[in-house]
Amino acid sequence: MPIRRLSEDMVNRIAAGEVVERPASVVKELVENAIDAGATRIDVVTAGGGSTLIRVSDDGGGMGPDELALAVERHCTSKLDGGLDDIRSLGFRGEALAAIGAAARLSVTSRKRGTDSAFEISVEGGRVGDVKPAALSTGTRIEVRDLFFATPARLKFLKSERAESAAITDVVKRQAMAHPGIRFALNGSDRSSLDYPAATGGDAQLTRLGQIMGADFRSNSIAIDAGRQDTTLKGFAGVPTYSRANSLAQFLFVNGRPVRDKLLLGALRGAYADLMKRDRYPVAALFIDVDPSQVDVNVHPTKADVRFRDAGMVRGLIVGAIREAFARSGLRSSTTATG
Ligand code: ADP
Ligand code: MG
Repeated sequence: MPIRRLSEDMVNRIAAGEVVERPASVVKELVENAIDAGATRIDVVTAGGGSTLIRVSDDGGGMGPDELALAVERHCTSKLDGGLDDIRSLGFRGEALAAIGAAARLSVTSRKRGTDSAFEISVEGGRVGDVKPAALSTGTRIEVRDLFFATPARLKFLKSERAESAAITDVVKRQAMAHPGIRFALNGSDRSSLDYPAATGGDAQLTRLGQIMGADFRSNSIAIDAGRQDTTLKGFAGVPTYSRANSLAQFLFVNGRPVRDKLLLGALRGAYADLMKRDRYPVAALFIDVDPSQVDVNVHPTKADVRFRDAGMVRGLIVGAIREAFARSGLRSSTTATG
């Protein structure tokens, strides 16, 4: 699909707002773009907790020189072809690169698949430079330096380098969970590092979860595989004794998109309600797939919240599937499982 400018009407309908709150949100946007571009490997390098440098390289389809110029403009996207009711990509608003270019020193280098030359464009605090020839063997490399140098008020809200680094690690983990077939690597100047080789085959999902959550999770969780109407729920739920003191190990995805949706988190809690003390949190990685027309991802600028057309059905599916899985494995009696 070519990159094109959204119509005025469409611009007014997308949930506009700040997409770059902190370094981790930049990483999220760039990694999403790489996934949308069909990458099979994504490399993230950071320095200074992402505020000095964020570099994301991918081997996806890339962009030609004309597309590069459009990509950094506001409201230009190659993705919203089917309209807001049929979103199949992670991005769709055409805002991220423009917002990053306005707040930082951005450079995008890309080589369109099937061509033998690469080009580069730079944006510094909103000033867009010319497209120039560059060297790159494949895909796209995006560098973001001095984040928020152009918006100093934002700089003040950054947490410690360590905290920003941890948030970046979390973003990469969540994206990696949802895309086991893609190799992910992260290297930070603070020596934070991740490397998840591509997982393939029938149990790719479990392999990837094992890479991220450790062998412990694999041996303390139960497979979930359920469906209702057009909605499917797959993943793994930790046994009740394998609980945590916080909700950081609850990973929820809707159509391949990491979310922190209240409805879903509440449903997860509900599934364990009588199995866990109030101050404990279950561990889970759950993947919900619904027809794009049944979910609105255009609710929040960072797309962390979603709205289901039939929220009750989704809640019932989650609670029911987890309780049934426990009942089947003898972790609770089936009579209480239906209650
Ligand atoms: P969105 O993802 O919502 O379309 P972005 O501002 O993130 O908006 O990106 C604008 C456009 O730039 C995308 O629609 C896509 O065509 C192109 N683009 C961005 N990153 C990449 C990438 N890594 N590989 C190929 N194309 C990209
Ligand atoms: Mg995007």
